[in-house]
Amino acid sequence: MPEVIYFDNNATTRPDPSVVEAMLPYLGEQYGNPSSVSALGSQAARAVGLAREQVAALIHCEPAEIVFTSGGTESNHAAFFSARHLNPARRHCVTTAVEHSAVLKPLEALETRGYEVTRLGVDAQGRLDLEALERAIRPDTALLSIMAANNETGVLFPVEKIGEIARAKGVLFHTDAVQAVGKIPLHLENANLHYLSASAHKIHGPKGVGFLYVNRRSGFAPMLLGGGQENGRRAGTENVPGIVGLGKAAELAAHALEDEAREVRRLRDAFESGVLAQIGGVQLNGDPIDRLPNTSNLAFEGVEAQAALILLERANLSASAGSACLTGSLAPSHVLRAMGFSDDRARSSLRFSFSRLNTAQEVEKAVEIVAKTIRKLRES
Ligand SMILES: *Cc1c(COP(=O)(O)O)cnc(C)c1O
Repeated sequence: MPEVIYFDNNATTRPDPSVVEAMLPYLGEQYGNPSSVSALGSQAARAVGLAREQVAALIHCEPAEIVFTSGGTESNHAAFFSARHLNPARRHCVTTAVEHSAVLKPLEALETRGYEVTRLGVDAQGRLDLEALERAIRPDTALLSIMAANNETGVLFPVEKIGEIARAKGVLFHTDAVQAVGKIPLHLENANLHYLSASAHKIHGPKGVGFLYVNRRSGFAPMLLGGGQENGRRAGTENVPGIVGLGKAAELAAHALEDEAREVRRLRDAFESGVLAQIGGVQLNGDPIDRLPNTSNLAFEGVEAQAALILLERANLSASAGSACLTGSLAPSHVLRAMGFSDDRARSSLRFSFSRLNTAQEVEKAVEIVAKTIRKLRES
């Protein structure tokens, strides 16, 4: 296989080798069911307990506040299910126009069942207007669902301030923090958050596992019923290898959080300044300061992003246009459209997302590949 420069870390990440190593016994000889009293069962239960502590340490909450799930998508569904069932008389939700489809689609489905959804817009830098948020909350609002960091632009939303608004108005607050967990510090012990979704495969863990943080003071209505796993909050025999991998990934992320953010930001900034120095007609999409350290979303004037991606992939550079779920379709990114950009600008935008496994040499090489590709497309 040729050496691939992988700058698509907001789509998924490479599992860290020590995550794979930690998981291996649980795919083989350590096959116990954590609910059974056998020796194997209690070993598995201990491994799940350790993972719960590792995840809690990453976001500064209590281990009992972590519910393991099958990933970010399920966590979002579980939060929405719970909010609906805790407050059946309230049938209004507030979200933003720039959420991931794993928030937008389940809320659209609620609309077909008699719910009302308010979708807040953003400004040209992707930022939310908190006064508009306050005005959108009604007496029948059940839930705010507002992401912590945008997957396409990396723009950060002020989760703590939104939490204060939610508390003052007496509404539940959920955040899809799949892109924020492990990339920026989160301190849930003093945030006014009820539910937070995260996923292992965005932080060098395995696919198909994640968690929902449920504030210990919030109510919770479980979506999956059956055996009493996860303290009655999510039935089904635990994905022990996945949970062990998530725990290890969380431990690694917590350990390196600040150094890693600085290092990844350095790579991202070197990439951006390299590209801007080499070619004209390039614009940054999103707030230049208040964004994830690993994300760069750039508009290349006069270039079709889909065509650019094909050439970049041929040169062994992986990037993306908008969100992975939309690749292949010609729909312009709903995030860039919500920022007020034209279809043309949205269709000429590429996302490059970095991780601690990338290197300065890769950045240098990638700048050359991008510059060459964009020039070629503009000449043709
Ligand atoms: C990737 C992603 C999801 C989906 O997570 P899965 O674990 O793949 O289900 C949800 N929200 C955001 C912001 C994401 O980036």
